[in-house]
Amino acid sequence: MSLTSLISTAIQLKVMGIPHSSFEEKLEKMKESKGVRLDTDLTAADLKELVEQYKKVYLEVKGEEFPSDPKKQLQLAMTAVFDSWDSPRAIKYRSINQITGLKGTAVNIQCMVFGNMGNTSGTGVLFTRNPSTGEKKLYGEFLINAQGEDVVAGIRTPEDLDTMKNCMPQAYDELVENCEILERHYKDMMDIEFTVQENRLWMLQCRSGKRTGKGAVKIAVDMVSEGLVDICSAIKMVEPQHLDQLLHPQFENPSAYKDKVVATGLPASPGAAVGQVVFSADDAEEWHAQGKSVILVRTETSPEDVGGMHAAAGILTARGGMTSHAAVVARGWGRCCVSGCSDIHVNDAEKVVVIGDVVISEGEWISLNGSTGEVVLGKQPLSPPALSGDLETFMSWADEIRRIKVMANADTPEDALRARNNGAQGIGLCRTEHMFFASDERLKAVRRMIMAVTTEQRKAALDLLLPYQRSDFEGIFRAMDGFPVTIRLLDPPLHEFLPEGDLEQIVSELTTETGMMEDEVLSRIEKLSEVNPMLGFRGCRLGISYPELTEMQARAIFQAAVSMSNQGVTVLPEIMVPLVGTPQELGHQMTLIRNVAKKVFSEMDVTLSYKVGTMIEIPRAALVADEIAKQAEFFSFGTNDLTQMTFGYSRDDVGKFLPIYLSKGILQSDPFEVLDQKGVGQLIKIATERGRAARPSLKVGICGEHGGEPSSVAFFAEAGLDYVSCSPFRVPIARLAAAQVAV
Ligand code: PEP
Ligand code: MG
Repeated sequence: MSLTSLISTAIQLKVMGIPHSSFEEKLEKMKESKGVRLDTDLTAADLKELVEQYKKVYLEVKGEEFPSDPKKQLQLAMTAVFDSWDSPRAIKYRSINQITGLKGTAVNIQCMVFGNMGNTSGTGVLFTRNPSTGEKKLYGEFLINAQGEDVVAGIRTPEDLDTMKNCMPQAYDELVENCEILERHYKDMMDIEFTVQENRLWMLQCRSGKRTGKGAVKIAVDMVSEGLVDICSAIKMVEPQHLDQLLHPQFENPSAYKDKVVATGLPASPGAAVGQVVFSADDAEEWHAQGKSVILVRTETSPEDVGGMHAAAGILTARGGMTSHAAVVARGWGRCCVSGCSDIHVNDAEKVVVIGDVVISEGEWISLNGSTGEVVLGKQPLSPPALSGDLETFMSWADEIRRIKVMANADTPEDALRARNNGAQGIGLCRTEHMFFASDERLKAVRRMIMAVTTEQRKAALDLLLPYQRSDFEGIFRAMDGFPVTIRLLDPPLHEFLPEGDLEQIVSELTTETGMMEDEVLSRIEKLSEVNPMLGFRGCRLGISYPELTEMQARAIFQAAVSMSNQGVTVLPEIMVPLVGTPQELGHQMTLIRNVAKKVFSEMDVTLSYKVGTMIEIPRAALVADEIAKQAEFFSFGTNDLTQMTFGYSRDDVGKFLPIYLSKGILQSDPFEVLDQKGVGQLIKIATERGRAARPSLKVGICGEHGGEPSSVAFFAEAGLDYVSCSPFRVPIARLAAAQVAV
């Protein structure tokens, strides 16, 4: 290994802990003093001098001479690779990408060819198709007289492949032919690194290329029509998370912001991002944790920045090409990225970015268009994406293949419509409590219900709530015409509806709202206060203690169902009782519901069919599922609560120790995000088996957060569940995950 290449390896990996910038500074100064712009404009004598300076940097930091024994150099380079495995950025990268269970990394040692042997040499990186759009055209970058890391590190902004075609036509033709051979062999879009040493082409490396969601879908659809892959293989070529990117909003009207465009860089990763400007990865993470949308602006990104890049809505860099670190990483995550925007001058010390006359300070809003490379002042309006074109074709293949149904968790008619547009086959969970937060009047009526001391007072408050609930249910039934709508009775602890603030404020607000005396309010609040509300007065315990509550909700559901049915809508209501642990609890609630149904049907002179079932979210319910299924017509696993109660981790407090558990490898992933198949999954299997043994027609689904998480969806499909239900945005992801497990 040559000294310069060892040093460059050392720079990249921070061998011996010397920061990259210490070397970069010397190089920049040298170019400045020689009056040249490019590294390659430096002469051999300049480089020799630079090497001496680099050695001095080493000596200053390490207190010893740079080792001249090649074996020692090799040893250090290898150690650096192994050490890089445990660097904070590598740990962060693995955690973001959920790469778990690996023991370490390997080191390959091989001879090098040199792209920096003059103007008949060069180096490049390419994708066999455009990784942003999927277009079937070589997409890459090339640098004459340079080594590979000059391209990927984004230090020099490279030129496109046409440069190579013009100055090294033979090597270029061979490269094109090799790309075709490799695509045919691997049946995928490839990411290739190559070097030309004195006009001779060397293929250095080839792997499956990272791509955006848009690119992934187009490549999969095109490769089917080119006869390169079949539909089943194509289904596996798109990651469920890819769809997430496609379902992000786009700019409502790009032509409307033209006068606000202040710079244009390379369209490195498509999509629209709107956020507040920050200048460091740490700030990006911190602001994001405070719920802010941020745009990370850097001269160039380095692997240390991965955490901030992931936290940011968009990334803007002054340097680096389409295959630079920022671009590749951003595309892999579907983050919008504009790179190589040479019009911007980033001043990290002052926390400003200067673009001509415009100065943008930290915290100011900008918008990025990752498909055009435009940098736009202010917050530009976004519009929701649509499932059309290639994506529609691709999703229709997924739907043909999958066996498990995909429903949505939706609480409003708007959400229900969005879910339907995203391909939901019904609503698997409508959380009725969310409707109570929709307006001040509703919330006030709920509070009157909670504060009521007598049944009469409670009934009077419930009478106020009934019309609100009925009209929401009507909207949802209409939006879901022909599909089942699963409505859950009130579930959360009642104190969640009380005002926030200190006790004095709460009492004064409630006294005004309800007209009750202060001491009455105070005593009621004390009664409602719980040490452990998640395990307290919630779920079916509410409806059993206050039957009039269940009756009001059932009445609103049946009245809405009948009125919609009278208007020609096909309604399929399914009423779900939450937090059941014993068959007696369910029996109690079912009797109330069925009685209300009879009453409403006779009052309105119709009969509709409907189902009553329960959530399975208490471990005991899973174990006595056979007894529960004697009454329940369906089960829906509430895997949020089931996880909470199986692990004994509070959903609200898990954040205190979960990061420690993850970093120590005690848990491989957050069980509230990725289903714990071994424990919680076992309960799901037991309950499904026992439930279906007692009632073979039992419909079984899941409506916890795991319903939209790909690996969990695969588990539910294999466990034989009838459906998963997830947020409307994740419906396409679940549809694809379900298809992938089927192939
Ligand atoms: C669940 O517990 O999984 C569930 C869907 O109910 P919630 O999140 O409303 O408690
Ligand atoms: Mg629950």
